[in-house]
Amino acid sequence: MAKTLLETGMSRGDIIDHLSELKHNDIRWAEGRAPIFVFKADDDISTTAREAFNLYFTENALGAHRAFPSIQQMEKDIVAIGLSLFHAPSGGTGYFTTGGSESIICAMKAARNWSRERRGDPQFRGNFVLPDTAHPAFTKGGDMMDMEVRRVPVGPDYRADPAAIEAAIDKDTIMIVGSAPCFPYGVIDPIDELGEVAQRHDLWLHVDACVGGYLAPFVKELGRDVPTFDFQVPGVTSISADLHKFGYTPKPASTVFYRDPDKAGHQMFKYDVWANGMYATAGIAGTRPGGGVAGAWATLHALGRDGYLRVNARLMDLVDRYKQGIEAIPGLRIVGKPHLSIISLTSDEVDMLQAGERMRQFGWLPGFINRPKGMHLMLSRIHEPACDPWLKDLRTCVERQRAAASEPGAKVQVVY
Ligand SMILES: *Cc1c(COP(=O)(O)O)cnc(C)c1O
Repeated sequence: MAKTLLETGMSRGDIIDHLSELKHNDIRWAEGRAPIFVFKADDDISTTAREAFNLYFTENALGAHRAFPSIQQMEKDIVAIGLSLFHAPSGGTGYFTTGGSESIICAMKAARNWSRERRGDPQFRGNFVLPDTAHPAFTKGGDMMDMEVRRVPVGPDYRADPAAIEAAIDKDTIMIVGSAPCFPYGVIDPIDELGEVAQRHDLWLHVDACVGGYLAPFVKELGRDVPTFDFQVPGVTSISADLHKFGYTPKPASTVFYRDPDKAGHQMFKYDVWANGMYATAGIAGTRPGGGVAGAWATLHALGRDGYLRVNARLMDLVDRYKQGIEAIPGLRIVGKPHLSIISLTSDEVDMLQAGERMRQFGWLPGFINRPKGMHLMLSRIHEPACDPWLKDLRTCVERQRAAASEPGAKVQVVY
């Protein structure tokens, strides 16, 4: 491909041919060969969402208030659905964002600005206390806003340790955090106990339900053990939940919710002395794709409660099949007791980073965890056709790794 802009443009056919060719080296995600990055409810839903996305291909959600009332209405509907799903009290409010990282960083900024106002100190730089397993987006937020992020070890069950969190709090702490679930192990932190800590110290508790928010309510309704993580817990102040993960919507789509509208208001950015006049956004992004909003609205409405129950019942059966298959391989065990569709696995006998790296030779993208050394899966129905072949290849790789461990210098290079 030319390294400068072409003198004359290519035809549509050539462009599509070229891109299709370029895609050849990508992971075959549609066969379930990527354990992260992509999600699916079912094919009909994807088709509907794609059509809705394309209907808003050109519209800009930045202009929702001034030019595109339809986008404003869809965002309102989406936020209302989330508020009811997470049992927000009346007055609860929220925003549509472009992703989990944005939802998290926006909640951190709202908490910081709220705390500055409360302390009467517009320069105040406090700290955030979180379990070690919380998503890197919190550290990214701390980096961007030059604020301290304290990470605290989790308990032996890989869930946040409320006593350790409480011990790390000081007079400058603004927010504590729990995940529902955390990304590394898929376990839901004890949000009820974290809520008590938050209330005792008059702190903001943010629940990061980015990966599980739109899955957990349905898995609970299906009768599985899912700890309460939402606004039903009195101490919960804000919640982030990604639509573009287990809401099964197209990217980019996430949501952030607040119990209290005053606190939510601190998320807004307003600049009213610009040459163009007033500029205001709730999120980090300015221009945003209208398609992301329309795709999310379409998916939520196409599935409905019974759709999410149907899809997620099949998903959780698939998760059980993966778990049983993993535990049937000698030397392997599941890390902790995952609540939803993330599973991590490890071994006391075999180096699972090395074994995982071998999976690449069979066309799988391996997912990893570092503590303990192991492998990571985030399953959706995209992985249905992959279950048996993945388990078969995993068994082979574990056996080969076990045999290779006795030969010096037989290490494979692990790439994260
Ligand atoms: C994915 C994820 C995020 C970040 O979301 P992005 O949409 O990738 O920005 C945050 N927290 C958890 C627990 C996640 O799984």
